[in-house]
Amino acid sequence: MEGAERFRVLIEEGRLQARIAELGAQIAEDYRGKDLVLVCVLKGAVVFLSDLSRRIDLPLAMDFLALSSYGDRTETSGVVQITQDLTRPIEGRDVLVVEDIVDTGLTLDFLLENFRVRHPRSLRVCTLLHKPSHTRRHVPLDYVGFVIEDRFVVGYGLDYEQKYRNLPYIGFLDR
Ligand code: 5GP
Repeated sequence: MEGAERFRVLIEEGRLQARIAELGAQIAEDYRGKDLVLVCVLKGAVVFLSDLSRRIDLPLAMDFLALSSYGDRTETSGVVQITQDLTRPIEGRDVLVVEDIVDTGLTLDFLLENFRVRHPRSLRVCTLLHKPSHTRRHVPLDYVGFVIEDRFVVGYGLDYEQKYRNLPYIGFLDR
């Protein structure tokens, strides 16, 4: 893709898809007979949600929520806001939050606090990537695709200045 030369491949497409199939199978086993709602955190998790959901062989619902996070910068502000809320109540339902990446944990910590007072029956997290080196809030991560080093990653939903979300692999910025 034009401009993508500046990124190096960190996790290639085949590895991503194989791991997503494993996560989907595990989630299907854990949620059999439950009222599963996948909550996608926009925009970064949309590509992951799309592939993951098709690997979960269960009837499930999806809802979407947008949070402000990095803007166009590459460092977290710690200030999180819901810019677009869920369309349906989650009370009494089995909610699985689908995230692209957990870095400081501030975004997810905020989101889980916000969801707890809506009284879901259960509340868990599935993140494709975890960068533990920057942790500022410890949040329980129930399903993790890959643990990665401290690098600014792009592709597969993750943007660089709002672009490159459509790369089919995870790359990193080679500064
Ligand atoms: P946290 O609040 O855990 O620090 O950051 C979570 C959000 O920051 C993610 O959902 C993502 O939008 C953004 N983010 C964190 N690390 C990266 C990264 O390496 N690349 C990109 N593109 N976004 C990131």
